[in-house]
Amino acid sequence: VPFRNEDDLVRWLQRRWPDRATNVRLGIGDDAAIVSVTRGSEFALTTDLSIEGVHFRRDLHPPRAVGHRALARALSDLAAVGARPRFALVSLAFPPATRRSWVSGFYDGAGVLARRHGVALIGGDTAVAEGGGIVVDVVAAGEVKRGLALRRDGARPGDLLYVTGRLGMAALGLEMLKSNARRASTTNRRAEGGGIVRQALGAHLYPEPRLGTGRYLAAHRLASAAIDVSDGFARDLGRLCAASACAAIVREESLPLPRSGTLLTSSTGRPRQQTVREARLDPLELALRGGEDYELIFTVPRPRAGRLPRSIKGVALHQIGEIRRGRGLRLLLRSGSEVRLAPRGYDHFRRAR
Ligand SMILES: [Mg+2]
Repeated sequence: VPFRNEDDLVRWLQRRWPDRATNVRLGIGDDAAIVSVTRGSEFALTTDLSIEGVHFRRDLHPPRAVGHRALARALSDLAAVGARPRFALVSLAFPPATRRSWVSGFYDGAGVLARRHGVALIGGDTAVAEGGGIVVDVVAAGEVKRGLALRRDGARPGDLLYVTGRLGMAALGLEMLKSNARRASTTNRRAEGGGIVRQALGAHLYPEPRLGTGRYLAAHRLASAAIDVSDGFARDLGRLCAASACAAIVREESLPLPRSGTLLTSSTGRPRQQTVREARLDPLELALRGGEDYELIFTVPRPRAGRLPRSIKGVALHQIGEIRRGRGLRLLLRSGSEVRLAPRGYDHFRRAR
């Protein structure tokens, strides 16, 4: 791998492509770029790759889920800057042996999510990847009122730290899919009825980008900074803190951990009911490091915290800690002791090494 990690590559690109054009309000390095095109509003632009074997596996992820997740990744970046999604371009490369039903399922998955959020799918590119796997790229554009876009670099010491929804559910869903690799379709069917199984698989296969929450926070000028959780809570919080040049403390007792309860595993080849702990999955670890939650992490200056509702459009907001002076992340355990929280999560570059 030619770079130490993804953040390294982004910093290198920032130096090579500094923002010179006057209508670029925010360039490389945030969740989306912000450009101003009309008086009064700005456009947020983002692009996201989804690669077979890295972001999805054909034996685990149905084509509809691949299409949904590819678009959801991009829409989540727009949610993180508080933009209303307007347009998307979906590009797809697939090997010659790909079934037509796969391709049509893929576009269906993206299409349903796009319609639900009023996103016009306005184009894209396709190619046959001779000798390669499936590669998806989604470019999405969203609109935000001038000056209201949320960004990563606005957090200040004393700001309260929040996260939406529930952490670790997508990672739990992925663990369930992996332990049922040969029975993915069975699991999906069984999942229809069961609480935590259905929720975890849903969170992983069909994540809901927090667009309404992001827009509300931006429109009411409530958040000083925001980022979406794509590569894991600790890693993305670390990015927000690095961009804002500050530290953060997180309280374990306040984190919305994945629900405990029974789930379906089949390490033995036979599906059986297990609790999260019996499956040797640590709910705290899933919440801190598991990726692809597509929740929002955001900070609110104390004087504005009173105006923050408990939930926005049905999505709960959890106050989980605060921003501090300095560098790095700390975790206040239930036991009362405070430990360093490594800003680590899922890193494609690390995994490839
Ligand atoms: Mg992001």
